Amino acid sequence: THDLGLSGDEVKALDRAHVFHSWSAQATLDPMAIERGEGSYVWDYDGNRYLDFGSQLVNVNIGHQHPKLVAAIQDQAARMCTIAPAVANDVRSEAARRISDVAPEKLTKVFFTNGGAEANEYAIRLAKGHTGRPKILTTYRSYHGATTGAIGLTGEPRRWANEPVTHGTVHFWGPYPYRSQFHSDSPEQETERALQHLRDVVMVEGPQTIAAIMLETVVGTNGVLVPPPGYLAGVREICDEHGIVMIADEVMSGFGRCGQWFAIDAWDVAPDLISFAKGVNSGYVPLGGVVIHEDIAASYDEKPFPGGLTYSGHPLACASAVASMRIFEEEEILGHVRRMAQDVYEPRLRELADRHPSVGDVRGIGAFWALELVRDRDTREPLVPFNATGADAAPMAQFAAACKQRGLLPFTHFNRTHVVPPCTTTRDEALEGIAILDEALKVADEHYTG
Ligand code: PLP
Repeated sequence: THDLGLSGDEVKALDRAHVFHSWSAQATLDPMAIERGEGSYVWDYDGNRYLDFGSQLVNVNIGHQHPKLVAAIQDQAARMCTIAPAVANDVRSEAARRISDVAPEKLTKVFFTNGGAEANEYAIRLAKGHTGRPKILTTYRSYHGATTGAIGLTGEPRRWANEPVTHGTVHFWGPYPYRSQFHSDSPEQETERALQHLRDVVMVEGPQTIAAIMLETVVGTNGVLVPPPGYLAGVREICDEHGIVMIADEVMSGFGRCGQWFAIDAWDVAPDLISFAKGVNSGYVPLGGVVIHEDIAASYDEKPFPGGLTYSGHPLACASAVASMRIFEEEEILGHVRRMAQDVYEPRLRELADRHPSVGDVRGIGAFWALELVRDRDTREPLVPFNATGADAAPMAQFAAACKQRGLLPFTHFNRTHVVPPCTTTRDEALEGIAILDEALKVADEHYTG
């Protein structure tokens, strides 16, 4: 057996002694020790079960330990664990074919990476090389990854401590009807004004200096901001007018999260590059990549593409992507997500808003939802301030603790809790989770002052 035979306490003690964690003040950490997972649940070392309403980092779209996906990785491991990126290999070829097949028509080639940040690094490198232009426009309230280029693209506080990291990145405001930068009072007005703002930014930055506009199709961690009608099509028009590459960051929104292979399909818009990771194989093996428009790929027909990775198109990762996409088809998971949105997530989460004054806004698509928690529905004062830490963040910490006590792992960020379970989560599991949220939201209601 390969079981290390460690207790939960031993696992935690070794972690605290030797594991350096992401985004955290190391001395303040108290990580949960998780032993195993299955479907929509994970278990700690004491046998306590938790419903995973965050799909870990919104990546375990197929659920934990899907037996067919595990078997595909085991088969590939027995056949061939690794091979250099310069060769052709069956699972790499097939993964690229399948991903291109579900992408918009002219996006026919795939560059594979190990995750989402690298995918965005390569997307912007492709766009800069293709256009010969230096700048990239991205939105505030975005997250694009933590490598140097990707953290520069990011439009939220995780960038701050890493600055200066601009690399020609310019930020603008995307649409956010609930907290509009444009003082709009309808989604239609938000679209119109957000597009005018983007046109103005393009004008004053100089369109001939802009290689790409990069957007999360649905903004993920920063609020599940679903674009209002016409916005993405408007961005496409602005890009076309000025020869700017349109990049859709679908690291979080792609591969089932929005009930589509690519979220952009819900708006019938075709970007020039799509970056992906997470749900492509639910992170069973690290994988990301960029799907590339044939015209951009053709820029590198004669001149060499200046980039590469030892593990680009790793066989274990590619085999798991192929298997995952097959399982999505066999189990009709995209249809399941769309039905769950309509029958369960949307109506039941709106009911929570009816019962809890602290729920200021409910929004989402597919298996991708956010409850925005407030102290006052009229002023929309958030339950905790933007980027709150320590005592300021206590109400959200109390809410998250109340969820965990009842057997639910929530995904919280600032004043929001996101409902982002696996795409395979059943109706009963979802209702169980929403019932726990219903209880835990009483904690948030106690802070309501409106
Ligand atoms: N882009 C988006 C939209 C993301 O949500 C994330 C991760 O949360 C990333 C990029 C970065 O991906 P990774 O953590 O795999 O580098």
